[in-house]
Amino acid sequence: MSGSLIAVRDLNKTYQLGEVEVKALRGVSLDVAPGEFIALTGPSGSGKSTFMHLLGCLDRPTSGRYELRGRDVANLPKRDLAAIRNREIGFVFQGFNLLPRTSALENVELPLLYAGGIGAKQRKQRAKAALKSVGLGNRLEHHPNQMSGGQQQRVAIARALVTDPVLLLADEPTGNLDSRTSIEVIDIFQRLNAEHGLIILLVTHESDIAQYARSHRCVPRRSRALRQSIGRSKTRRHRPRPAWLRSRRTVESLTCRFS
Ligand code: ADP
Repeated sequence: MSGSLIAVRDLNKTYQLGEVEVKALRGVSLDVAPGEFIALTGPSGSGKSTFMHLLGCLDRPTSGRYELRGRDVANLPKRDLAAIRNREIGFVFQGFNLLPRTSALENVELPLLYAGGIGAKQRKQRAKAALKSVGLGNRLEHHPNQMSGGQQQRVAIARALVTDPVLLLADEPTGNLDSRTSIEVIDIFQRLNAEHGLIILLVTHESDIAQYARSHRCVPRRSRALRQSIGRSKTRRHRPRPAWLRSRRTVESLTCRFS
């Protein structure tokens, strides 16, 4: 497992709903090296969000091993998991999850406030820098309802970045955006990954979006491991890609099969 930022072995998650057991994740293994940008795809119900929650220390597995930067975090107490989330992991969700009556700047400052020990002036400076880095230096005082969906998602990305995490988890981050805005958001992820080496795990059901990651793993329904194979993409596109979209950088290795 050495050399991996994330090393997951045989991870299982079973939800108990009254007397019914829901096996959401069965024996998943994954290694993520520094600098990777991975798209996780799979059919609805295959456990993608469950896996993201486990990687993000929002929940604990039923069994299996999860090492983050060499530390076994699978069974840490909730308090320790919260500290890891705050310091090491940034989250971006489909629904943006911004506080509505709060400016972009204040939304982005929040994780620093939770972290504690950072003065107001420094919080503001770091939040401004994070917003600038996603192209929103001129929207600091705007509230979410004064911004477009794409701008709101960029605020959410700035909020995820402001603590300087090693890992960014994005769960369907383009699910509420039109295709052009989606690509703008993915461009930001690509830049953060290429220029700052930020590790990004992106869950998406959109094959067009998955192609902008540098590698691609599938979560096959009822299968045991995340699959990756190398070769030119054989993913079918349902519609022709417009010229402005074709010109963007895509990965070359994208073949995956479901068992
Ligand atoms: P995906 O993100 O790939 O659509 P999920 O991880 O959301 O899949 O769900 C995987 C399976 O686990 C589904 O059958 C879902 O109904 C079930 N599930 C997810 N969360 C819970 C929960 N909190 N309690 C019970 N079952 C859940």
